[in-house]
Amino acid sequence: MEKIDKGIVFDIQSFSVHDGPGCRTTVFMNGCPLRCEWCANPESWTLKPHIMFSETSCKYQKGCTICKDACPYKGLTFNNMPTLNWDICKNCDTFECSLKCYYDALKVCGKEYSVDQIMKILTRDSNSWSVEGGVTFSGGEPLLQSEFLINLLKECKQNYFHTAIETTAYKDNKTFLEVMKYIDFAFIDVKHINRDMHKQKTGVYNDIILNNIRALKQSGWKGRLILRMPVIRDFNDTYENITDTTQFMKENDLFEINILPFHRLGESKWKQLGKEYKYKDEEGTDPKKLEEIQDLFLENQIACYVGHDTAF
Ligand code: SF4
Ligand code: SF4
Repeated sequence: MEKIDKGIVFDIQSFSVHDGPGCRTTVFMNGCPLRCEWCANPESWTLKPHIMFSETSCKYQKGCTICKDACPYKGLTFNNMPTLNWDICKNCDTFECSLKCYYDALKVCGKEYSVDQIMKILTRDSNSWSVEGGVTFSGGEPLLQSEFLINLLKECKQNYFHTAIETTAYKDNKTFLEVMKYIDFAFIDVKHINRDMHKQKTGVYNDIILNNIRALKQSGWKGRLILRMPVIRDFNDTYENITDTTQFMKENDLFEINILPFHRLGESKWKQLGKEYKYKDEEGTDPKKLEEIQDLFLENQIACYVGHDTAF
């Protein structure tokens, strides 16, 4: 496989306790082939670094005008607030506006890292990981930068790091299984078990995802796999979807699922990217609904963990 030494990463979080067993470092990689309508990390979608503008961080109304002449492409106009022309900004490579803004109102999302640079951070952090801790690769969809990911994982294994992945498994089967050879623990999202419903709200059919899960189980892979489902009202919280998901899990010897209540924490990011957020009036998932879904899984001998706080 080609040696790809560099990848695009939009965040690295040390001391993470929700992304796998123990205390870990989570590496958030750019790029995602899905377009989930409720996505909490829409800044991860494009592989290419891009700009975000936060009105709440901007000090224009308090007199700051530092970025006024910063854009050489006429991407910025000013009214009672700087306004980005997204058609111009989506093609920008220089992000000169962000270099001027001291208040982080104009921020670039996505930065190039080499394998060595990330390994340096992981090696430093490894001193504070708990015994069961390690590194989690998340996104976006980490499989989108699979060559870079495999090179990172090989280094991690040479250092005896515990490795986890948060993935949609939306990748060709050969590459997916190759990546999983170096993974000890996986969360795989199944957002809806029905292929047409899956396509309706994520933009892609789920055949590749379900086939990859089947293939992983048949491959003799020794890691721990937990399915994940964000609970979205009137989409995947139905009796039919839960029972069909249960059936799929039983057929494939899968006995753990983590359901995540819907929240609107990603809403401001949609605005910062100039995108429309369809879920702005949606309430968080009713705890009674979560319990109902959990009971359905438990009745079928499937362990169902609710929320991010479970100690895996
Ligand atoms: S430099 Fe930053 S804080 Fe100042 S006006 Fe421009 S975007 Fe706002
Ligand atoms: S992102 Fe690029 S094009 Fe857009 S305002 Fe900033 S410098 Fe100009």
